[in-house]
Amino acid sequence: MSGVTPSPPSMPAASPWHDAVVERVAVLTPRIVSVFLRAPLAPGLAGQHLVVRLTAPDGYAAQRSYSVASAPGVMPIELIVEKLEDGEVSPFFHEVVAPGDHLEVRGPLGGHFVWRPADGGPLLLVGGGSGVAPLMAMVRDWHASGAGVPLLLVVSARTWAELAFRDELVALQARAPLLRFVAVTTRDAAHRPGDLVQRLDSTALQRLLAAWGHVPAHVFVCGANRFVEAVTTGLLDAAVPAERIRTERYGGAG
Ligand SMILES: Cc1cc2nc3c(=O)[nH]c(=O)nc-3n(C[C@H](O)[C@H](O)[C@H](O)COP(=O)(O)OP(=O)(O)OC[C@H]3O[C@@H](n4cnc5c(N)ncnc54)[C@H](O)[C@@H]3O)c2cc1C
Repeated sequence: MSGVTPSPPSMPAASPWHDAVVERVAVLTPRIVSVFLRAPLAPGLAGQHLVVRLTAPDGYAAQRSYSVASAPGVMPIELIVEKLEDGEVSPFFHEVVAPGDHLEVRGPLGGHFVWRPADGGPLLLVGGGSGVAPLMAMVRDWHASGAGVPLLLVVSARTWAELAFRDELVALQARAPLLRFVAVTTRDAAHRPGDLVQRLDSTALQRLLAAWGHVPAHVFVCGANRFVEAVTTGLLDAAVPAERIRTERYGGAG
């Protein structure tokens, strides 16, 4: 992935812990829940993440990072958590966390994988699975701010049912002519004209960019390692300049 600038590690130690109250947990897809939190945090920027710390009664603590999916300053803050069956923390959000529970959070953190309305566009966002989370914050901020720049959002999941935020995005696209939302599924039929059924590769990305008709000024790619690798390689093949591409990796090979 030569030339593409990866997100530098953020500095969570500089940010204090705050109490957060779980307001609501909602099923977003069969594998992803939305967790809505109230916490006294600064608004931050679209694309940033929180660190969440869970502490067991015996004092054992585990912490993980979750991107903020809500727009900056919106309360409650929405995080989305994909369940890894063999994971330590993510199943807790699916099986244990309930309204009224208290967690510890710090952030928003991360200064590289962020988009501000003043940054403008055209804006290309490509996400895989729960990697849509920080991109959703950008889409929501883009819409709320009235940034008049074209936005192409490409989201990949195994099936249409597993595409987080699909209904909100379809509805938003109907209201926002500058938004183009392309769903990419790997194990399902296409649901709408223009959607793709395949793994994203150079050819698919070149076609998407040609059909869009814009040259992206800012590109954000987020997802599992293998997804980010494939998409960034494809974008470089499609002649997108490396310095315009920013990536965020959630770990994992899927
Ligand atoms: C900036 C950032 C933002 C993120 N945002 C999101 C988000 O919005 N939504 C989201 O769902 N996730 C997000 N993540 C990922 C998230 O932080 C967690 O990694 C994820 O929830 C898995 O945590 P877990 O405790 O369930 O799994 P873990 O227990 O950490 O396990 C993760 C994987 O590693 C494997 N593993 C664990 N221990 C070992 C070992 N000793 N040897 C070999 N393999 C092992 C497990 O089998 C599993 O597949 C983000 C990550 C980063 C860095």
